[in-house]
Amino acid sequence: MTKLKRILAAVCAAAMVMAFAACDSKDTASDAAESTQSSVAASADENKATADEAAGEIKLSTDGKLVMATNASFPPYEYYENEKIVGIDAEVAELIAQKLGVELEIKDMEFGSIIGAVQTGAVDMGMAGMTVTEDRLKTIDFSDSYATAVQVVIVKEDSEIASVDDLEGKTVGVQENTTGDIYASDDLGEENVKRYNKGNDAVAALASGVVDAVIIDNEPAKSFVAANDGLKILETSYADEEYAIAVSKDNKALTEAINKALAELKADGSLDAIVEKYIPAE
Ligand code: GLN
Repeated sequence: MTKLKRILAAVCAAAMVMAFAACDSKDTASDAAESTQSSVAASADENKATADEAAGEIKLSTDGKLVMATNASFPPYEYYENEKIVGIDAEVAELIAQKLGVELEIKDMEFGSIIGAVQTGAVDMGMAGMTVTEDRLKTIDFSDSYATAVQVVIVKEDSEIASVDDLEGKTVGVQENTTGDIYASDDLGEENVKRYNKGNDAVAALASGVVDAVIIDNEPAKSFVAANDGLKILETSYADEEYAIAVSKDNKALTEAINKALAELKADGSLDAIVEKYIPAE
């Protein structure tokens, strides 16, 4: 698939999320309007209650807790610092939990296990720098997007690979089950892709010459390149993406509540402040 097609696919996936959110809020709004008609004295609070009911009750896997699945080897979105999971996703999730009036619990697992954990209700949401894709939307819902990302290519400083087009026939390292894995396998052939559990393991394989390049999200790429001598990020990027929070299709009320919380965090500058803390403007 060409880069242009990739961008279109990502935009369509994002549009699907927005269309879905738009449909949802329209339903909610018309429900609220109906209730106003049936009771002239209906207060704003009652309308809100009716709107909340439209999506049903928020279901939580554990009483009083918002349990988030992540893969904490993806700086600056989620990583360990003094045995604690920190990062943009961890901090945004903390604020969402506060707004829902519950405690946040983070479960660290392989990236490829997150969607299943969300789907079965073992956790309430997946937040892991997770890209919205049409395929993933078949099994889970996504919240509104809270970040944009780019899939980039990391190579050795003296590599002959100068652009995405030079990857043909090369061995590419990826983190298993990520969009980097999906794109590389589709475009370059499974036999040319080596899958690693963590992005950093793929980068270590590049540093030691086991693979010729790594395709991975831009922010972790920057942090892995900074931690390893002799590597660089190509200027031509592989795909543009949107990150969002994964929620079970059976928990529409939670997706709505998360979207409301995200909208507030965007409006009052809290989201920007968290991003700025982890990704200082250059
Ligand atoms: N954004 C990529 C994806 O969703 C990678 C996410 C990750 O490794 N945590 O597939």
